[in-house]
Amino acid sequence: GEEGYVVRADRGTMRARSVVNATEAYTALLHRQYRDILWPGQTQAAFGLGGPEGVRAGIGLSGGLGFFGRHKGPDGDGVIFGSDATRVPHRQAGSNRPSRFITKVLVGELYRYFGDGDVAVTHEWSGTPGFTVDEYPVVGRLDGKRQYIIGGMCGSGTAVSFNGARHVVQQILELDGSDDYPEAYFAPTRLLDPANHPWPKLTKGETPMAQT
Ligand SMILES: Cc1cc2nc3c(=O)[nH]c(=O)nc-3n(C[C@H](O)[C@H](O)[C@H](O)COP(=O)(O)OP(=O)(O)OC[C@H]3O[C@@H](n4cnc5c(N)ncnc54)[C@H](O)[C@@H]3O)c2cc1C
Repeated sequence: GEEGYVVRADRGTMRARSVVNATEAYTALLHRQYRDILWPGQTQAAFGLGGPEGVRAGIGLSGGLGFFGRHKGPDGDGVIFGSDATRVPHRQAGSNRPSRFITKVLVGELYRYFGDGDVAVTHEWSGTPGFTVDEYPVVGRLDGKRQYIIGGMCGSGTAVSFNGARHVVQQILELDGSDDYPEAYFAPTRLLDPANHPWPKLTKGETPMAQT
């Protein structure tokens, strides 16, 4: 209601004035209206000792099928690489089940791009970042009141989800400040209710068409 929310969790029931759903790929399990606009996408990575010398420290590179970089792990120096963004059912949010086939394809790509250099794969893992239908994040009010969402980071959340949190915290505490997630571009109504979403206003001089 207007006064706040009752949140029921395994460890008890809480009353809260505001609720932030930083639930990414799990969001639709809690809020069914997100079923067709925010879903888990399986993404995977692997680490192997050794690898081609052409993979240099401090440089991450993406190719057509994957990304590659050098990493010093607890057991020694090696290469890290990954790929994939396959949509999986909502109930598989959070699952860890990497595909050995994809790992092998990426080892082939590693040699193709960077030359020979034996790699001994020691770790494989996968996760499920949240992907939106238009591949832009959803950050803002979830119910038009004091419940918020930070999600749909489409696999780049390590770098940017903190900025989404800043947007939400500033709204809750009514603070002004630098904002990377303006409502016009990122509010959930963009996907849930596009007809009534406050879309950005473009003046004629700002449209790409006007420059041609
Ligand atoms: C292989 C792989 C490679 C990646 N590479 C990169 C990269 O190079 N750069 C980059 O920026 N990002 C990368 N990412 C993506 C990045 O890991 C995610 O975008 C980021 O972790 C999202 O953080 P988050 O906190 O928003 O969501 P999550 O880390 O998904 O956290 C959501 C949390 O919500 C909890 N939760 C769900 N439902 C409930 C509930 N009902 N009650 C309480 N808690 C709940 C879950 O347990 C989970 O802990 C990669 C991901 C993978 C899998």
